[in-house]
Amino acid sequence: MVESEHDVALQDTDRIEGRSALVNNVNAAIALAGAIRSTLGPRGADKMLVDENGSVLVTNDGVTVLETAKVEHPTANLLIATSSAQDRVARDGTTTSVLLTAELLRNALELSRIGVHPSLIMKGYQLACEESMKQIEMIARDADDKQMKDVISTTLAGKVDSSLAGKMTELALEAANILSSIEGSDDVEKIRVKRLQISSGKASDSELVRGLVVRKKRLDSSTPKDSETGRIVVLDGGFEPLSLELDAQIEINDTGVISGFQKRKTTHLERMVKSLKDNAVDLLCVRDGISDEAIPMLRDAGITSYRRFEREDLERICILTGSSMIRDMNRLKKSDTGSYLSRFETKINDTWHLTIEGEGEAMTAIIKGTTPIIREESERAFDDALGVAFRLVNNPFILPGGGATQIHLARHLRAYSTSQRGREQLAIEGFADALEIIPRVLSENAGLDPIDNILALSAQQSEKGEWIGLDVMSGKICDVSKSGIHDPLFVSSQAIIGATEAAISVLRIDDVLWAKVEPSTPDWNHSEDED
Ligand code: ADP
Ligand code: MG
Repeated sequence: MVESEHDVALQDTDRIEGRSALVNNVNAAIALAGAIRSTLGPRGADKMLVDENGSVLVTNDGVTVLETAKVEHPTANLLIATSSAQDRVARDGTTTSVLLTAELLRNALELSRIGVHPSLIMKGYQLACEESMKQIEMIARDADDKQMKDVISTTLAGKVDSSLAGKMTELALEAANILSSIEGSDDVEKIRVKRLQISSGKASDSELVRGLVVRKKRLDSSTPKDSETGRIVVLDGGFEPLSLELDAQIEINDTGVISGFQKRKTTHLERMVKSLKDNAVDLLCVRDGISDEAIPMLRDAGITSYRRFEREDLERICILTGSSMIRDMNRLKKSDTGSYLSRFETKINDTWHLTIEGEGEAMTAIIKGTTPIIREESERAFDDALGVAFRLVNNPFILPGGGATQIHLARHLRAYSTSQRGREQLAIEGFADALEIIPRVLSENAGLDPIDNILALSAQQSEKGEWIGLDVMSGKICDVSKSGIHDPLFVSSQAIIGATEAAISVLRIDDVLWAKVEPSTPDWNHSEDED
């Protein structure tokens, strides 16, 4: 469907503006989708990305490709935002959502050429999207434990080798089950699970620790390095005495002034340490520094202290121990302190590591591997697996993969469209056609014939039901539930919802430009003459 210039050369200026805006927007979307098309599916190709500094990243992850690309066109940027939103909400399905958006737009342009007004296309797309969601619920199945594993490893397929995918899936599911009852923002699982890379052992020796493990040694080695239970304070700032900001303004003509200040500083520190002691605190974790003068005071009070934590680690300690992150030591209350179940230091590869365990739901994934590349790859795989596992545990429904869901929806929508009156019907059919982009590209990337496969899938589904899909590894059409090719429901539904919203927002721009045209008037009744 190539758009030629003369198609847009119409008499009515408003319409020309509207039309060429749509043509440009659709072309931008298609170009962008073209850039990642070849990465879809387990047989998708890798892309090599080179940034300004010459560093190279090899990936077959759609969102990574797009977020690294420098794109100027507003529609292209909207598509990139859609794929980022998909990544944030579902952690998977990014390539799918972009391909689908571009295809919805391509078909919208086609429809506008035959005289369907953008507002009717939008309405039809909206109806088709809602109907798809209802259908998806109907064909979804509850995932059992094995299927959960299959689904998560399917999302890693093509990114890492299968034994690593298996290991990361196992760790991710273990973590996700612990986090299952937690509600919160899209980033819950990132906040609650720390990733710590360790340069020894094999990736397959990676493990999950129920607690926080950080590379740290206590400030004073004469304080206890381990303890079974105790109380903790988490300070978001430094353990420092009152600052002497007034220094510059003080005329120092009397040595007594300085020693007076010194004394006040010391008294202040002593008060801070005393308040810790009064609250039976034996562990202090501080974001910034701890003043030299405080070190012996803390030791004498039996408090082991650690400094220079990353804020995220402090948040995890708060979750584990039930403490609040305090900013001002002078206002310490008993309720701000937390309790840990155990803490200890161990030496890994000649470096001291502190482990804090508590009752709260926070963990550390220890990612092992001898080279940085292996560790990075394993960590990315773990992240992807955890993102999907966490959502799947809370929403354990699966759909057939390998293009089966999209073929089913396309078939269903074509039948459904006849229940609608008017031109929305055409838009619903356009939506159905757009969904077929997924099995088409999966086939292409596996070197199979897309047309034959789409026809065969449709024919076999009408006999054997909607779980018939394409296994690109064997190149065969089969019952995908038997081959373990599933997509999580939340990934597929988010991809369809996100793509529909993105396509509609592009069409809306067009609709504004066309505001003067009555929706009931065919828009391109001159187009025959123009050609
Ligand atoms: P996305 O960024 O959209 O997640 P992927 O490259 O991860 O893109 O590909 C996901 C698609 O690959 C899904 O439609 C999924 O059903 C399909 N898929 C996964 N494994 C297979 C397989 N063995 N055969 C066919 N399709 C598969
Ligand atoms: Mg994927």
